[in-house]
Amino acid sequence: MRIEVNMEQKLNQGFPFWKTKALAEMTVAEWESLCDGCGKCCLFKIEDTDTGRVHYTDIACRMLDLNTCRCKIYEHRFEVIKDCLSLTYTKLQEIDWLPESCAYRRLYEGKDLPSWHPLVSGSQDTVRQASISVCGRALPELSVDLLTIDDHIVDWFD
Ligand code: SF4
Ligand code: SF4
Repeated sequence: MRIEVNMEQKLNQGFPFWKTKALAEMTVAEWESLCDGCGKCCLFKIEDTDTGRVHYTDIACRMLDLNTCRCKIYEHRFEVIKDCLSLTYTKLQEIDWLPESCAYRRLYEGKDLPSWHPLVSGSQDTVRQASISVCGRALPELSVDLLTIDDHIVDWFD
């Protein structure tokens, strides 16, 4: 048994964790580091009740810092925003609306991380440079009349 563990460590040497571990095996720190901070899951969405299709808007949760695209209250976000998504491996298997760029979705679908992902590029700036981030392109929730939310549907993925 001990020999098998050492063999596994040798095989994994030089490869980043997302290439050697299944999503369900990752540590909390590894799991968290996969988020590129694009901010798309913090946008308001509308579900079409007829088709089940989920449409993204350009309206951001009031707790999203639109300069950094990071949550202002990350550590206690679930206490403040009741419908904030808690993205776990189980949840990942249930939802189909994460953006195609999202690392969790990509790895779940058997794809690699793209070159602009911070874990690959070494910089958070590349997310914005690749136009993946909603930074500078979304509106704060409190600046919008949510009765007009239909007017704010955006196809971020063209
Ligand atoms: S869509 Fe994915 S990568 Fe983007 S902020 Fe949400 S969890 Fe992170
Ligand atoms: S509470 Fe934070 S993580 Fe949750 S949707 Fe709002 S900005 Fe995003």
